Amino acid sequence: MGTDLRTMLDDLVGQALQCHAPTREQALDLLASNDDDLLDVVAAGGRVRRHFFGNRVKLNLIINMKSGLCPENCSYCSQRSGSGAGILKYNWIDPVAASDTADRAVASGVKRLCLVASGRGPSDRDISRVAEMVRVIKERHPDLEVCTSLGLLTSERAGRLLTAGVSAYNHNLNTSEANYRKICSTHAFADRVDTVGVAHDAGLSPCSGAIFGIGETDDEIVDLAFDLRKLEPDSVPINFLIPFEGTPLGDEWQLTPQRCLRILALFRFFFPDTEVRIAGGRELHLRTLQPLGLHLANCIFLGDYLTSEGQAGSADLQMISDAGFVVEGRDEETLPQSRRDLVSLRRRGPGTDVPANA
Ligand code: SF4
Repeated sequence: MGTDLRTMLDDLVGQALQCHAPTREQALDLLASNDDDLLDVVAAGGRVRRHFFGNRVKLNLIINMKSGLCPENCSYCSQRSGSGAGILKYNWIDPVAASDTADRAVASGVKRLCLVASGRGPSDRDISRVAEMVRVIKERHPDLEVCTSLGLLTSERAGRLLTAGVSAYNHNLNTSEANYRKICSTHAFADRVDTVGVAHDAGLSPCSGAIFGIGETDDEIVDLAFDLRKLEPDSVPINFLIPFEGTPLGDEWQLTPQRCLRILALFRFFFPDTEVRIAGGRELHLRTLQPLGLHLANCIFLGDYLTSEGQAGSADLQMISDAGFVVEGRDEETLPQSRRDLVSLRRRGPGTDVPANA
């Protein structure tokens, strides 16, 4: 490793421990660093990860409540309008089926359920369905975190989700504003930014991340990281393209395991005290280097994804243990204290004896 890179990595670690973002130049240099220097990059990101999250790995599980037949045309998505991918297609699953899946997830150490439905956004009726599903799940597992990912959201519907017991809302920015126009024409980057803001303002913990390997340049990756930082997400899922046959990006294999790790390191430096999750495409793109990803991300999805299968959940758990990490307990806080203090839980106004703050 050259002196320049060593100095830059030390600077990045120092900045991250103060929760300061990389500069554009540092970010681009990190993405352009050599494969020979990969372990130094991972070690630097790992120092930040361990500072804020120790050796804990949080486990999330995806439940695809409604699969396929989406009217939107996100080109990376197997559920898009006109998709020829041979995925499962079904309408809303039964709350009991979701709850049975939650039972299995809890037994494997899962802390957060991500309830996902394809579509542009939920109707009022969809929100009622999801609320019932959350009620049934929470009846059996009151301490399980529930996140929903239902598309574009209005404030009123966000409020209904919060009341139903949903604690977080996922809506990914996916790629830079410049690249967004090339991957989707049915909604805009700004729509996605708005929905993350709506969820945030409603009191839902914002989860927003990205997908890589869809033609983005290094500059666009950095643009996206800066835009995401402005939204102050509590969690940032990092997806790597799963190239489904029958979708426009079905032949795109632009990533190497090394590049995936540099991207994960970059996002750890941009989001030092935020949950960074390795999401879809982990097995496909990190392959045998998956355990190194755990030194950067503090969360993974256990088992399967929305429409494709992941490695066995038992293999995920074995990997965590072999790499020297432990599964985060449901009674442990994920975000560091300094970060949780940013959110003041309301203890005045409706529902309390204290007058409203008005
Ligand atoms: S990413 Fe979401 S909105 Fe886009 S096509 Fe897929 S399911 Fe529809």
